[in-house]
Amino acid sequence: MKYSSIAEAYEKIEATTKRLEMTDYLVEILKETPTSLIDKVVYLTQGKLYPDFVGIEIGIAEKLAVRAVARSAGHREKDIEEDMQKTGDLGETTQKFMKKKTQATFFSVPLTVERVYETLDKMANSTGSGSVDLKLSLLAGLLSDASPSEAKYIVRTVTGSLRLGIADMTVLDALAVAFGGGKETREQLERAYNISSDLGRVAKLVAEEGIERIKQFKVLPGEPIRPMLAERLSSSAEILEKLGGKCRAEYKYDGERIQAHKKKDEVILFSRRLENITDQYPDGVEYIRKHVKAEEAIVEAEAVAVDPETGEMKPFQELMHRRRKYGIKEAMEEHPITLFMFDVLYVDGKDLTLQPYPVRHRYLEKIIEQTDNVKVAESTIAENPEQLEQFFETTVESGSEGIICKSVNEDSVYQAGARGWLWIKYKRDYRSEMTDTLDLVVVGAFHGRGKRAGTYGAFLLAAYDPDKDVFETVTKVGTGFTDADLEKLPKMLNKHKISHKHPRVDSTLDVDVWFEPAVVIETRGAEITLSPIHTCAMNVIRKESGLAMRFPRFTGKYRVDKSAEDATTTQELVEMYRSQLKKIDG
Ligand code: AMP
Repeated sequence: MKYSSIAEAYEKIEATTKRLEMTDYLVEILKETPTSLIDKVVYLTQGKLYPDFVGIEIGIAEKLAVRAVARSAGHREKDIEEDMQKTGDLGETTQKFMKKKTQATFFSVPLTVERVYETLDKMANSTGSGSVDLKLSLLAGLLSDASPSEAKYIVRTVTGSLRLGIADMTVLDALAVAFGGGKETREQLERAYNISSDLGRVAKLVAEEGIERIKQFKVLPGEPIRPMLAERLSSSAEILEKLGGKCRAEYKYDGERIQAHKKKDEVILFSRRLENITDQYPDGVEYIRKHVKAEEAIVEAEAVAVDPETGEMKPFQELMHRRRKYGIKEAMEEHPITLFMFDVLYVDGKDLTLQPYPVRHRYLEKIIEQTDNVKVAESTIAENPEQLEQFFETTVESGSEGIICKSVNEDSVYQAGARGWLWIKYKRDYRSEMTDTLDLVVVGAFHGRGKRAGTYGAFLLAAYDPDKDVFETVTKVGTGFTDADLEKLPKMLNKHKISHKHPRVDSTLDVDVWFEPAVVIETRGAEITLSPIHTCAMNVIRKESGLAMRFPRFTGKYRVDKSAEDATTTQELVEMYRSQLKKIDG
Protein backbone atom coordinates (compact mmCIF):
# COMPACT_ATOMS: atom_id res chain seq x y z
CA MET A 1 0.00 0.00 0.00
CA LYS A 2 1.35 3.41 -0.96
CA TYR A 3 1.99 5.84 1.83
CA SER A 4 0.65 8.55 -0.47
CA SER A 5 -2.88 7.15 -0.03
CA ILE A 6 -2.55 7.79 3.67
CA ALA A 7 -1.03 11.22 3.21
CA GLU A 8 -3.93 12.17 0.92
CA ALA A 9 -6.46 11.00 3.48
CA TYR A 10 -4.64 13.03 6.14
CA GLU A 11 -4.85 16.14 3.93
CA LYS A 12 -8.62 15.70 3.63
CA ILE A 13 -9.12 14.95 7.29
CA GLU A 14 -7.13 18.01 8.24
CA ALA A 15 -9.25 20.20 6.00
CA THR A 16 -12.49 19.35 7.74
CA THR A 17 -13.78 20.15 11.17
CA LYS A 18 -16.85 17.94 10.88
CA ARG A 19 -16.62 14.65 12.68
CA LEU A 20 -18.95 12.94 10.21
CA GLU A 21 -16.79 13.89 7.23
CA MET A 22 -13.72 12.83 9.12
CA THR A 23 -15.33 9.44 9.71
CA ASP A 24 -16.17 9.11 6.00
CA TYR A 25 -12.54 9.72 5.01
CA LEU A 26 -11.40 7.19 7.58
CA VAL A 27 -13.88 4.64 6.22
CA GLU A 28 -12.50 5.21 2.72
CA ILE A 29 -8.92 4.69 3.72
CA LEU A 30 -9.70 1.67 5.91
CA LYS A 31 -11.54 0.01 3.04
CA GLU A 32 -8.59 0.62 0.78
CA THR A 33 -6.15 -0.93 3.24
CA PRO A 34 -5.15 -4.60 2.86
CA THR A 35 -6.48 -6.39 5.96
CA SER A 36 -3.00 -7.45 7.03
CA LEU A 37 -2.08 -3.78 7.40
CA ILE A 38 -5.23 -2.49 9.11
CA ASP A 39 -3.78 -2.42 12.62
CA LYS A 40 -0.73 -0.47 11.50
CA VAL A 41 -2.80 2.07 9.60
CA VAL A 42 -5.04 2.57 12.62
CA TYR A 43 -2.06 3.18 14.91
CA LEU A 44 -0.48 5.55 12.38
CA THR A 45 -3.61 7.69 12.06
CA GLN A 46 -3.34 8.30 15.78
CA GLY A 47 0.36 9.10 15.54
CA LYS A 48 1.37 5.81 17.18
CA LEU A 49 3.00 2.50 16.31
CA TYR A 50 1.45 0.40 19.07
CA PRO A 51 -1.38 0.65 21.56
CA ASP A 52 -0.43 2.97 24.42
CA PHE A 53 0.04 0.22 26.99
CA VAL A 54 3.01 -1.20 25.08
CA GLY A 55 4.85 1.98 25.98
CA ILE A 56 6.85 2.36 22.77
CA GLU A 57 6.84 5.89 21.44
CA ILE A 58 8.54 7.23 18.34
CA GLY A 59 9.57 10.38 20.20
CA ILE A 60 12.26 12.03 18.06
CA ALA A 61 13.56 15.35 19.38
CA GLU A 62 12.69 18.27 17.13
CA LYS A 63 16.36 19.19 16.77
CA LEU A 64 17.18 15.78 15.38
CA ALA A 65 14.25 15.96 12.96
CA VAL A 66 15.54 19.36 11.77
CA ARG A 67 18.90 17.78 11.02
CA ALA A 68 17.28 14.97 9.05
CA VAL A 69 15.20 17.44 7.04
CA ALA A 70 18.26 19.58 6.34
CA ARG A 71 20.19 16.56 5.17
CA SER A 72 17.56 15.20 2.82
CA ALA A 73 16.42 18.58 1.49
CA GLY A 74 20.02 19.73 0.98
CA HIS A 75 19.72 22.87 3.13
CA ARG A 76 21.39 24.25 6.21
CA GLU A 77 19.83 23.48 9.57
CA LYS A 78 19.78 27.19 10.28
CA ASP A 79 17.50 27.86 7.26
CA ILE A 80 15.08 25.17 8.42
CA GLU A 81 15.05 26.55 11.96
CA GLU A 82 14.48 30.11 10.78
CA ASP A 83 11.56 29.10 8.64
CA MET A 84 10.14 27.04 11.49
CA GLN A 85 10.08 30.18 13.63
CA LYS A 86 7.72 31.67 11.04
CA THR A 87 5.45 28.69 10.40
CA GLY A 88 5.52 27.39 13.97
CA ASP A 89 5.33 23.87 12.55
CA LEU A 90 8.25 21.74 11.42
CA GLY A 91 5.87 19.73 9.21
CA GLU A 92 4.86 22.80 7.24
CA THR A 93 8.49 23.91 6.90
CA THR A 94 9.55 20.45 5.76
CA GLN A 95 6.93 20.43 3.04
CA LYS A 96 8.14 23.80 1.79
CA PHE A 97 11.80 22.79 1.62
CA MET A 98 11.03 19.44 0.06
CA LYS A 99 9.04 21.22 -2.66
CA LYS A 100 12.08 23.29 -3.56
CA LYS A 101 14.08 20.11 -3.77
CA THR A 102 11.66 18.14 -5.95
CA GLN A 103 11.93 20.75 -8.65
CA ALA A 104 15.58 19.80 -8.97
CA THR A 105 15.49 16.01 -8.56
CA PHE A 106 13.51 13.10 -9.91
CA PHE A 107 11.19 11.00 -7.85
CA SER A 108 12.58 7.80 -6.50
CA VAL A 109 10.66 4.64 -5.58
CA PRO A 110 7.25 5.46 -4.07
CA LEU A 111 7.09 5.00 -0.29
CA THR A 112 4.94 2.18 1.02
CA VAL A 113 3.07 2.11 4.33
CA GLU A 114 5.04 -1.03 5.21
CA ARG A 115 8.37 0.73 4.76
CA VAL A 116 7.32 3.84 6.65
CA TYR A 117 5.99 1.76 9.54
CA GLU A 118 9.04 -0.50 9.70
CA THR A 119 11.45 2.40 9.58
CA LEU A 120 9.62 4.28 12.32
CA ASP A 121 9.53 1.08 14.35
CA LYS A 122 13.29 0.68 14.01
CA MET A 123 13.75 4.27 15.13
CA ALA A 124 11.48 3.78 18.12
CA ASN A 125 13.31 0.65 19.20
CA SER A 126 16.87 1.91 18.83
CA THR A 127 18.45 2.84 22.12
CA GLY A 128 21.89 3.27 23.58
CA SER A 129 25.06 4.57 21.99
CA GLY A 130 24.87 5.18 18.30
CA SER A 131 21.10 5.32 18.37
CA VAL A 132 21.00 9.04 17.60
CA ASP A 133 23.02 8.58 14.41
CA LEU A 134 20.96 5.58 13.44
CA LYS A 135 17.69 7.47 13.93
CA LEU A 136 19.04 10.39 11.93
CA SER A 137 20.04 8.30 8.95
CA LEU A 138 16.82 6.26 9.00
CA LEU A 139 14.68 9.40 9.05
CA ALA A 140 16.76 11.20 6.42
CA GLY A 141 16.55 8.12 4.21
CA LEU A 142 12.78 8.03 4.49
CA LEU A 143 12.42 11.75 3.80
CA SER A 144 14.66 11.54 0.74
CA ASP A 145 12.16 9.17 -0.87
CA ALA A 146 9.08 11.08 0.27
CA SER A 147 6.93 13.57 -1.61
CA PRO A 148 6.62 16.97 0.10
CA SER A 149 3.22 16.13 1.54
CA GLU A 150 4.39 12.70 2.74
CA ALA A 151 7.47 14.29 4.31
CA LYS A 152 5.24 16.71 6.20
CA TYR A 153 3.27 13.89 7.80
CA ILE A 154 6.31 11.74 8.49
CA VAL A 155 7.99 14.60 10.32
CA ARG A 156 4.84 15.34 12.30
CA THR A 157 4.47 11.68 13.19
CA VAL A 158 8.01 11.25 14.47
CA THR A 159 7.97 14.45 16.50
CA GLY A 160 4.62 13.57 18.07
CA SER A 161 2.69 16.43 16.49
CA LEU A 162 0.44 14.68 13.97
CA ARG A 163 -2.71 15.69 15.82
CA LEU A 164 -5.33 14.91 13.21
CA GLY A 165 -7.91 14.87 15.96
CA ILE A 166 -9.01 11.30 15.27
CA ALA A 167 -10.38 10.15 18.60
CA ASP A 168 -10.81 6.50 19.55
CA MET A 169 -14.56 6.87 19.16
CA THR A 170 -14.16 8.17 15.58
CA VAL A 171 -12.09 5.13 14.67
CA LEU A 172 -14.74 2.85 16.20
CA ASP A 173 -17.47 4.60 14.18
CA ALA A 174 -15.42 4.14 11.03
CA LEU A 175 -14.75 0.46 11.76
CA ALA A 176 -18.48 -0.16 12.30
CA VAL A 177 -19.28 1.27 8.88
CA ALA A 178 -16.28 -0.18 7.03
CA PHE A 179 -16.36 -3.75 8.38
CA GLY A 180 -19.10 -4.20 10.98
CA GLY A 181 -22.03 -3.89 8.63
CA GLY A 182 -23.29 -0.56 9.90
CA LYS A 183 -23.24 2.05 12.65
CA GLU A 184 -25.28 -0.12 14.98
CA THR A 185 -22.33 -2.50 15.42
CA ARG A 186 -20.27 0.22 16.99
CA GLU A 187 -21.34 -0.86 20.49
CA GLN A 188 -19.83 -4.33 20.11
CA LEU A 189 -16.64 -2.88 18.70
CA GLU A 190 -16.48 -0.44 21.56
CA ARG A 191 -16.77 -3.21 24.10
CA ALA A 192 -13.96 -5.15 22.41
CA TYR A 193 -11.84 -2.02 22.57
CA ASN A 194 -12.74 -1.33 26.19
CA ILE A 195 -11.61 -4.76 27.30
CA SER A 196 -8.42 -4.87 25.21
CA SER A 197 -7.35 -1.20 24.98
CA ASP A 198 -6.04 -2.05 21.54
CA LEU A 199 -7.81 -0.34 18.62
CA GLY A 200 -5.43 -1.87 16.09
CA ARG A 201 -6.17 -5.41 17.20
CA VAL A 202 -9.93 -4.82 17.19
CA ALA A 203 -9.69 -3.24 13.72
CA LYS A 204 -7.73 -6.12 12.28
CA LEU A 205 -10.01 -8.72 13.84
CA VAL A 206 -13.21 -7.17 12.48
CA ALA A 207 -11.62 -6.65 9.06
CA GLU A 208 -10.36 -10.24 8.88
CA GLU A 209 -13.08 -12.19 10.68
CA GLY A 210 -16.14 -9.96 10.80
CA ILE A 211 -18.45 -8.67 13.51
CA GLU A 212 -19.51 -12.13 14.72
CA ARG A 213 -15.97 -12.70 15.93
CA ILE A 214 -16.06 -9.35 17.76
CA LYS A 215 -19.17 -10.46 19.62
CA GLN A 216 -17.17 -13.40 21.00
CA PHE A 217 -14.33 -11.13 22.11
CA LYS A 218 -13.06 -11.94 25.60
CA VAL A 219 -10.61 -10.36 27.99
CA LEU A 220 -7.10 -11.75 27.93
CA PRO A 221 -4.43 -11.52 30.62
CA GLY A 222 -1.74 -9.17 29.35
CA GLU A 223 -4.17 -6.81 27.63
CA PRO A 224 -5.30 -4.05 29.97
CA ILE A 225 -9.00 -3.42 30.46
CA ARG A 226 -10.04 0.23 30.38
CA PRO A 227 -11.02 1.09 33.94
CA MET A 228 -14.56 1.46 35.20
CA LEU A 229 -15.16 4.82 36.84
CA ALA A 230 -17.57 6.10 39.45
CA GLU A 231 -20.26 8.79 39.43
CA ARG A 232 -20.70 10.95 42.49
CA LEU A 233 -23.52 11.88 44.88
CA SER A 234 -23.52 13.60 48.23
CA SER A 235 -26.05 11.84 50.42
CA SER A 236 -26.67 8.31 51.57
CA ALA A 237 -30.35 8.50 50.74
CA GLU A 238 -29.75 9.57 47.14
CA ILE A 239 -27.15 6.87 46.66
CA LEU A 240 -29.37 4.08 47.91
CA GLU A 241 -32.26 5.29 45.83
CA LYS A 242 -30.08 5.25 42.72
CA LEU A 243 -28.77 1.76 43.50
CA GLY A 244 -32.16 0.23 44.19
CA GLY A 245 -32.15 0.30 47.98
CA LYS A 246 -29.07 -1.82 48.58
CA CYS A 247 -25.37 -1.68 47.84
CA ARG A 248 -21.95 -2.87 48.80
CA ALA A 249 -20.22 0.14 50.33
CA GLU A 250 -16.45 0.03 50.19
CA TYR A 251 -13.67 1.96 51.78
CA LYS A 252 -12.23 4.41 49.21
CA TYR A 253 -8.50 4.00 49.62
CA ASP A 254 -6.26 6.91 48.75
CA GLY A 255 -3.46 5.48 46.66
CA GLU A 256 -2.72 4.42 43.12
CA ARG A 257 -5.07 2.25 41.13
CA ILE A 258 -3.42 -0.87 39.81
CA GLN A 259 -4.74 -3.45 37.39
CA ALA A 260 -2.72 -6.60 37.93
CA HIS A 261 -2.50 -9.33 35.30
CA LYS A 262 -1.22 -12.71 36.40
CA LYS A 263 -0.19 -15.30 33.84
CA LYS A 264 1.31 -18.19 35.79
CA ASP A 265 4.56 -16.73 37.15
CA GLU A 266 4.45 -13.59 35.07
CA VAL A 267 2.80 -10.51 36.57
CA ILE A 268 2.12 -7.23 34.78
CA LEU A 269 0.86 -4.12 36.55
CA PHE A 270 -0.98 -1.36 34.73
CA SER A 271 -1.74 2.11 36.05
CA ARG A 272 -5.14 3.77 35.81
CA ARG A 273 -3.95 5.28 32.53
CA LEU A 274 -2.87 1.80 31.47
CA GLU A 275 0.84 2.46 31.48
CA ASN A 276 2.94 -0.55 32.36
CA ILE A 277 4.19 0.18 35.88
CA THR A 278 5.41 -3.32 36.72
CA ASP A 279 8.97 -2.15 37.39
CA GLN A 280 7.85 0.41 39.96
CA TYR A 281 6.32 -2.14 42.30
CA PRO A 282 8.47 -5.27 42.67
CA ASP A 283 6.74 -5.81 46.02
CA GLY A 284 3.30 -5.55 44.38
CA VAL A 285 4.38 -8.10 41.75
CA GLU A 286 5.47 -10.50 44.47
CA TYR A 287 2.20 -10.05 46.41
CA ILE A 288 0.16 -10.85 43.31
CA ARG A 289 2.31 -13.83 42.41
CA LYS A 290 2.03 -15.33 45.87
CA HIS A 291 -1.37 -14.33 47.17
CA VAL A 292 -3.65 -14.43 44.14
CA LYS A 293 -4.67 -18.07 44.17
CA ALA A 294 -5.26 -18.68 40.48
CA GLU A 295 -3.09 -19.69 37.55
CA GLU A 296 -4.28 -16.70 35.59
CA ALA A 297 -6.19 -13.68 36.81
CA ILE A 298 -6.87 -10.01 36.32
CA VAL A 299 -7.54 -8.13 39.55
CA GLU A 300 -7.88 -4.49 40.48
CA ALA A 301 -6.43 -2.97 43.60
CA GLU A 302 -5.52 0.31 45.19
CA ALA A 303 -1.86 0.41 46.24
CA VAL A 304 -1.57 2.44 49.41
CA ALA A 305 1.59 3.71 51.07
CA VAL A 306 1.91 2.46 54.62
CA ASP A 307 4.13 3.51 57.46
CA PRO A 308 6.86 0.85 57.67
CA GLU A 309 6.90 1.19 61.45
CA THR A 310 3.26 1.27 62.39
CA GLY A 311 1.58 -0.21 59.33
CA GLU A 312 -0.73 2.82 59.23
CA MET A 313 -1.98 4.10 55.88
CA LYS A 314 -0.33 7.24 54.57
CA PRO A 315 -1.79 9.85 52.24
CA PHE A 316 -1.46 9.41 48.48
CA GLN A 317 1.44 11.87 48.17
CA GLU A 318 3.74 9.38 49.88
CA LEU A 319 3.47 7.12 46.84
CA MET A 320 5.30 9.74 44.77
CA HIS A 321 8.51 8.27 46.16
CA ARG A 322 7.75 5.12 44.21
CA ARG A 323 7.59 6.89 40.84
CA ARG A 324 11.16 6.43 39.76
CA LYS A 325 13.40 4.53 37.44
CA TYR A 326 16.39 4.09 39.74
CA GLY A 327 16.77 3.26 43.40
CA ILE A 328 13.58 1.23 43.29
CA LYS A 329 14.74 -1.22 45.93
CA GLU A 330 15.51 1.52 48.46
CA ALA A 331 12.22 3.28 47.74
CA MET A 332 10.45 -0.03 48.22
CA GLU A 333 11.95 -0.49 51.67
CA GLU A 334 11.35 3.08 52.81
CA HIS A 335 7.89 3.37 51.34
CA PRO A 336 6.18 0.00 51.45
CA ILE A 337 2.68 -0.56 50.10
CA THR A 338 -0.38 -2.56 50.90
CA LEU A 339 -2.66 -3.74 48.11
CA PHE A 340 -6.39 -3.38 48.72
CA MET A 341 -8.14 -5.58 46.17
CA PHE A 342 -11.51 -4.35 44.97
CA ASP A 343 -12.43 -6.25 41.81
CA VAL A 344 -11.64 -9.31 39.73
CA LEU A 345 -12.23 -9.38 35.98
CA TYR A 346 -10.81 -12.69 34.89
CA VAL A 347 -9.97 -16.00 36.53
CA ASP A 348 -8.52 -19.06 34.80
CA GLY A 349 -10.20 -18.78 31.43
CA LYS A 350 -13.36 -17.11 32.73
CA ASP A 351 -14.11 -13.57 31.60
CA LEU A 352 -15.96 -12.08 34.59
CA THR A 353 -16.55 -8.61 33.20
CA LEU A 354 -20.19 -9.37 32.36
CA GLN A 355 -20.91 -11.05 35.69
CA PRO A 356 -22.77 -9.05 38.36
CA TYR A 357 -20.65 -7.62 41.15
CA PRO A 358 -21.78 -10.07 43.87
CA VAL A 359 -20.44 -12.91 41.72
CA ARG A 360 -17.15 -11.09 41.11
CA HIS A 361 -16.86 -10.29 44.78
CA ARG A 362 -17.28 -13.95 45.71
CA TYR A 363 -14.47 -14.82 43.31
CA LEU A 364 -12.35 -12.08 44.81
CA GLU A 365 -12.77 -13.42 48.31
CA LYS A 366 -12.01 -16.90 47.06
CA ILE A 367 -8.78 -16.17 45.21
CA ILE A 368 -7.19 -13.55 47.46
CA GLU A 369 -5.16 -14.91 50.30
CA GLN A 370 -5.16 -12.04 52.79
CA THR A 371 -1.95 -11.03 54.52
CA ASP A 372 -0.61 -7.87 56.17
CA ASN A 373 0.07 -6.41 52.74
CA VAL A 374 -2.69 -7.93 50.66
CA LYS A 375 -6.26 -7.33 51.63
CA VAL A 376 -9.71 -7.33 50.12
CA ALA A 377 -11.09 -3.77 50.37
CA GLU A 378 -13.06 -3.33 53.55
CA SER A 379 -16.77 -3.20 52.83
CA THR A 380 -20.25 -3.70 54.11
CA ILE A 381 -23.67 -4.33 52.65
CA ALA A 382 -25.90 -1.33 53.38
CA GLU A 383 -29.67 -1.46 53.08
CA ASN A 384 -30.66 1.82 54.68
CA PRO A 385 -29.22 5.35 54.75
CA GLU A 386 -28.30 5.12 58.46
CA GLN A 387 -26.16 2.05 57.87
CA LEU A 388 -24.48 3.69 54.93
CA GLU A 389 -23.87 6.90 56.87
CA GLN A 390 -22.28 4.99 59.73
CA PHE A 391 -19.92 3.15 57.43
CA PHE A 392 -19.05 6.44 55.74
CA GLU A 393 -18.16 8.02 59.07
CA THR A 394 -16.07 5.06 60.14
CA THR A 395 -14.02 5.22 56.97
CA VAL A 396 -13.58 9.00 57.02
CA GLU A 397 -12.52 8.86 60.60
CA SER A 398 -9.88 6.29 59.82
CA GLY A 399 -8.39 8.47 57.13
CA SER A 400 -10.38 7.77 53.98
CA GLU A 401 -11.72 10.51 51.73
CA GLY A 402 -14.97 8.61 51.51
CA ILE A 403 -16.55 5.45 50.19
CA ILE A 404 -17.51 3.89 46.89
CA CYS A 405 -20.99 2.41 46.79
CA LYS A 406 -21.39 -0.39 44.30
CA SER A 407 -24.51 -1.81 42.76
CA VAL A 408 -25.28 -5.42 43.68
CA ASN A 409 -28.11 -5.79 41.18
CA GLU A 410 -28.34 -8.33 38.37
CA ASP A 411 -27.00 -5.81 35.86
CA SER A 412 -23.97 -4.77 37.92
CA VAL A 413 -21.40 -5.71 35.27
CA TYR A 414 -17.91 -4.25 35.05
CA GLN A 415 -18.44 -1.26 32.76
CA ALA A 416 -15.00 -1.11 31.19
CA GLY A 417 -13.99 2.38 30.10
CA ALA A 418 -17.17 4.01 31.36
CA ARG A 419 -18.27 6.29 34.13
CA GLY A 420 -21.67 5.07 35.22
CA TRP A 421 -24.15 4.82 38.07
CA LEU A 422 -23.17 1.28 39.06
CA TRP A 423 -20.38 2.78 41.15
CA ILE A 424 -21.09 5.94 43.11
CA LYS A 425 -18.56 7.76 45.19
CA TYR A 426 -19.53 9.55 48.33
CA LYS A 427 -16.82 11.92 49.44
CA ARG A 428 -16.58 14.34 52.26
CA ASP A 429 -17.84 17.50 50.65
CA TYR A 430 -16.09 19.84 52.97
CA ARG A 431 -12.51 20.32 53.87
CA SER A 432 -11.01 22.78 56.26
CA GLU A 433 -7.81 23.34 58.08
CA MET A 434 -7.53 22.78 61.77
CA THR A 435 -5.39 25.56 63.11
CA ASP A 436 -5.55 24.93 66.84
CA THR A 437 -3.49 22.24 68.47
CA LEU A 438 -5.10 19.86 70.94
CA ASP A 439 -3.58 18.79 74.23
CA LEU A 440 -4.65 15.20 74.63
CA VAL A 441 -4.17 12.54 77.25
CA VAL A 442 -2.42 9.27 76.41
CA VAL A 443 -4.76 6.52 77.61
CA GLY A 444 -3.44 3.53 75.69
CA ALA A 445 -0.78 2.32 73.27
CA PHE A 446 -0.20 -0.16 70.48
CA HIS A 447 2.99 -2.18 70.08
CA GLY A 448 5.22 -1.09 67.18
CA ARG A 449 6.32 -3.15 64.20
CA GLY A 450 9.40 -2.95 61.97
CA LYS A 451 11.78 -0.27 63.17
CA ARG A 452 9.45 0.39 66.08
CA ALA A 453 9.46 -3.21 67.28
CA GLY A 454 10.10 -3.27 71.01
CA THR A 455 8.62 0.16 71.58
CA TYR A 456 5.22 1.72 70.95
CA GLY A 457 3.94 2.25 67.43
CA ALA A 458 0.90 4.41 68.13
CA PHE A 459 -1.03 5.92 71.02
CA LEU A 460 -4.69 6.27 71.85
CA LEU A 461 -5.49 9.83 72.89
CA ALA A 462 -8.45 11.28 74.77
CA ALA A 463 -10.02 14.62 75.60
CA TYR A 464 -11.49 15.39 79.02
CA ASP A 465 -15.17 15.82 79.77
CA PRO A 466 -15.33 17.79 83.06
CA ASP A 467 -19.11 17.34 83.36
CA LYS A 468 -18.87 13.55 83.36
CA ASP A 469 -15.31 13.50 84.68
CA VAL A 470 -14.26 10.96 82.02
CA PHE A 471 -11.65 10.82 79.29
CA GLU A 472 -13.15 10.19 75.86
CA THR A 473 -11.04 9.02 72.93
CA VAL A 474 -10.44 11.33 69.94
CA THR A 475 -7.71 9.80 67.83
CA LYS A 476 -4.89 7.33 67.39
CA VAL A 477 -1.53 8.95 66.69
CA GLY A 478 1.61 7.32 65.29
CA THR A 479 3.22 10.19 63.42
CA GLY A 480 5.55 12.98 64.46
CA PHE A 481 7.65 11.00 66.94
CA THR A 482 11.44 11.10 66.69
CA ASP A 483 13.63 8.21 67.81
CA ALA A 484 14.36 10.15 70.98
CA ASP A 485 10.62 10.52 71.64
CA LEU A 486 10.10 6.82 71.18
CA GLU A 487 12.76 6.13 73.73
CA LYS A 488 11.45 8.68 76.17
CA LEU A 489 7.74 7.89 75.98
CA PRO A 490 7.84 4.35 77.46
CA LYS A 491 9.80 5.76 80.39
CA MET A 492 7.20 8.47 80.94
CA LEU A 493 4.26 6.16 80.44
CA ASN A 494 5.25 2.87 81.97
CA LYS A 495 4.83 4.09 85.51
CA HIS A 496 1.15 4.67 84.63
CA LYS A 497 0.68 1.25 83.02
CA ILE A 498 -2.39 -0.65 84.22
CA SER A 499 -3.69 -4.09 83.31
CA HIS A 500 -7.14 -2.97 82.19
CA LYS A 501 -8.94 0.07 80.87
CA HIS A 502 -9.04 2.83 83.46
CA PRO A 503 -12.56 3.30 84.87
CA ARG A 504 -12.55 6.97 83.89
CA VAL A 505 -11.61 6.20 80.29
CA ASP A 506 -14.43 5.74 77.82
CA SER A 507 -13.24 3.81 74.77
CA THR A 508 -14.72 1.38 72.25
CA LEU A 509 -11.26 0.60 70.91
CA ASP A 510 -9.02 -2.05 72.33
CA VAL A 511 -5.29 -1.43 72.77
CA ASP A 512 -2.20 -3.46 73.67
CA VAL A 513 -1.40 -1.47 76.81
CA TRP A 514 -3.65 0.73 78.96
CA PHE A 515 -2.47 3.72 81.02
CA GLU A 516 -4.07 5.73 83.75
CA PRO A 517 -4.76 9.21 82.36
CA ALA A 518 -1.66 11.25 83.24
CA VAL A 519 0.60 12.14 80.32
CA VAL A 520 -0.57 15.00 78.08
CA ILE A 521 0.92 15.63 74.64
CA GLU A 522 0.29 18.33 72.06
CA THR A 523 -1.07 17.23 68.69
CA ARG A 524 -2.14 18.83 65.47
CA GLY A 525 -4.60 17.34 62.98
CA ALA A 526 -6.17 18.13 59.63
CA GLU A 527 -9.71 18.50 60.91
CA ILE A 528 -12.41 17.22 63.21
CA THR A 529 -14.89 14.72 61.82
CA LEU A 530 -17.84 12.70 63.03
CA SER A 531 -16.90 9.21 64.08
CA PRO A 532 -18.80 6.14 65.18
CA ILE A 533 -15.64 4.77 66.83
CA HIS A 534 -14.37 7.54 69.05
CA THR A 535 -16.35 8.38 72.14
CA CYS A 536 -15.60 12.10 72.41
CA ALA A 537 -18.92 14.01 72.57
CA MET A 538 -20.84 10.86 71.64
CA ASN A 539 -24.46 11.67 70.63
CA VAL A 540 -23.91 15.41 71.02
CA ILE A 541 -23.78 16.36 67.35
CA ARG A 542 -25.40 13.28 65.98
CA LYS A 543 -26.87 10.07 67.37
CA GLU A 544 -24.32 7.29 67.73
CA SER A 545 -21.47 9.48 66.50
CA GLY A 546 -18.59 10.96 68.37
CA LEU A 547 -15.87 13.35 67.24
CA ALA A 548 -12.43 12.44 65.97
CA MET A 549 -9.33 14.24 64.78
CA ARG A 550 -8.04 13.23 61.33
CA PHE A 551 -4.37 12.91 60.36
CA PRO A 552 -3.05 13.60 63.82
CA ARG A 553 0.58 14.36 64.43
CA PHE A 554 2.63 14.85 67.59
CA THR A 555 4.02 18.41 67.58
CA GLY A 556 7.03 17.47 69.74
CA LYS A 557 5.67 19.16 72.86
CA TYR A 558 5.09 17.24 76.08
CA ARG A 559 2.62 19.21 78.17
CA VAL A 560 4.25 18.31 81.47
CA ASP A 561 2.79 21.55 82.74
CA LYS A 562 -0.68 20.08 82.40
CA SER A 563 -2.42 17.43 84.39
CA ALA A 564 -4.82 15.08 82.62
CA GLU A 565 -7.75 17.20 83.78
CA ASP A 566 -6.20 20.23 82.08
CA ALA A 567 -6.35 18.58 78.65
CA THR A 568 -8.53 19.95 75.85
CA THR A 569 -12.16 19.33 76.78
CA THR A 570 -14.81 17.58 74.76
CA GLN A 571 -16.86 20.82 74.84
CA GLU A 572 -13.98 22.62 73.16
CA LEU A 573 -13.93 19.96 70.46
CA VAL A 574 -17.67 20.38 69.89
CA GLU A 575 -17.12 24.12 69.48
CA MET A 576 -14.26 23.55 67.05
CA TYR A 577 -16.35 21.13 65.01
CA ARG A 578 -19.23 23.64 64.83
CA SER A 579 -17.04 26.56 63.84
CA GLN A 580 -15.45 24.40 61.19
CA LEU A 581 -18.89 23.77 59.72
CA LYS A 582 -19.74 27.47 59.82
CA LYS A 583 -16.60 28.23 57.88
CA ILE A 584 -17.60 25.78 55.21
CA ASP A 585 -21.17 27.04 54.94
CA GLY A 586 -19.98 30.61 54.87
P1 AMP B 1 -11.86 9.20 41.82
O1 AMP B 1 -10.42 9.04 41.38
O2 AMP B 1 -12.05 10.22 42.90
O3 AMP B 1 -12.80 9.31 40.68
O4 AMP B 1 -12.25 7.83 42.54
C1 AMP B 1 -12.13 6.60 41.91
C2 AMP B 1 -10.84 5.93 42.30
O5 AMP B 1 -10.87 5.51 43.65
C3 AMP B 1 -10.58 4.65 41.56
O6 AMP B 1 -10.02 4.89 40.30
C4 AMP B 1 -9.61 3.91 42.46
O7 AMP B 1 -8.29 4.30 42.16
C5 AMP B 1 -9.93 4.46 43.84
N1 AMP B 1 -10.49 3.48 44.78
C6 AMP B 1 -10.15 3.38 46.08
N2 AMP B 1 -10.83 2.43 46.70
C7 AMP B 1 -11.66 1.87 45.79
C8 AMP B 1 -12.64 0.83 45.83
N3 AMP B 1 -12.91 0.16 46.95
N4 AMP B 1 -13.29 0.54 44.67
C9 AMP B 1 -13.03 1.22 43.54
N5 AMP B 1 -12.13 2.21 43.44
C10 AMP B 1 -11.44 2.54 44.55
